Amino acid sequence: SDNRTTVLVPGKIHPRVLERLGKQFEVVSVDRTDGPQVDADVAARVRGIAVAGGVNAAWIDAFPHLEVIANFGVGYDGIDVKHAASKGIVVTNTPDVLNDEVADTAIALLLNTLRQFPKAESWLRDGRWVKDGAFPLSPFSMKGRRVGIYGLGRIGLEIARRLEPFKVKIGYHTRSPRDSLPYDYYPTLKEMAQSVDTLISIVPKTPETHKVINAEILSALGPRGVFINVGRGWSVDDDALIAALGNGTLGAAGLDVFYDEPNVPAGYLTLPNVSLLPHVASASVPTRDAMADLVADNIIEWFEKGKPLTPVPETPVKPRG
Ligand code: NDP
Repeated sequence: SDNRTTVLVPGKIHPRVLERLGKQFEVVSVDRTDGPQVDADVAARVRGIAVAGGVNAAWIDAFPHLEVIANFGVGYDGIDVKHAASKGIVVTNTPDVLNDEVADTAIALLLNTLRQFPKAESWLRDGRWVKDGAFPLSPFSMKGRRVGIYGLGRIGLEIARRLEPFKVKIGYHTRSPRDSLPYDYYPTLKEMAQSVDTLISIVPKTPETHKVINAEILSALGPRGVFINVGRGWSVDDDALIAALGNGTLGAAGLDVFYDEPNVPAGYLTLPNVSLLPHVASASVPTRDAMADLVADNIIEWFEKGKPLTPVPETPVKPRG
């Protein structure tokens, strides 16, 4: 031990977080096991946690002097924030620094889904252009679409702005409408699904967003309908989506996120009308570097200035004593 403040890192994290924190903290990396297995003397020293993934109540309770949990990622559904809040522990996330990257990915995934570009590239690579001729025409196009964005927060708004030059009609559903935006507001997801042919989901994982993209919503989008998910797999009823894609109730889907990652339901893999990505929406070197810096800076600011940069709304922001 030394005199430096101890920060625990359970499981894997971006190496830049370790590098930055290592300059001024004692950083203890531990395996992510079912429960916190840390020597008692270390457990007593831990005052901060930096993590990409989850921290449940058992982990929080294992460290009596824990003050701050810095999550790598804007979605902090893996952290028991209620429990943290009840113990006066501040939780931080990485908002805004990934908005552009995730919104870019959403547009790319929408175009890939509509125009089947990944399949067209495989056609070329597999020598089928020479053998079989031109790649088949894509059944769908961006042209003239009516797009509904489910969740118009930091990222949803960037998706909307990117959609404007595509000359599509843009609407959104959130619980409360946002002021002075040129987009149609729908008070319910169902009303939006009935009015659009393209649905993009970018809501957080919460009890209210569990499997809300269900058979009813998908059939409202219709046979030319397209569903894109860059939010959380939690929001989708996979059985309903696989059935709708298979029987033509829905036209196509593009998915970056899944219910039980990294496991992807086998039903998706055999469908021709789904475009699949392995949760890469923010996964570029520059954006992940920015996220890593924000994780480290949240910890540094907390211990140096008593106030983190980006606390989540559920946990107290009162400066440390
Ligand atoms: P924000 O908190 O800024 O936005 C969330 C939006 O969702 C708000 O507009 C909110 O509006 C709306 N919302 C929340 N709950 C509901 C609900 N029950 N019904 C309708 N609308 C709801 O978050 P971000 O834009 O920064 O991020 C959104 C999510 O995207 C993250 O939580 C994360 O899960 C996911 N994500 C996925 C990534 C990937 O790699 N694929 C990368 C980054 C983020 P209101 O409160 O008015 O309802």
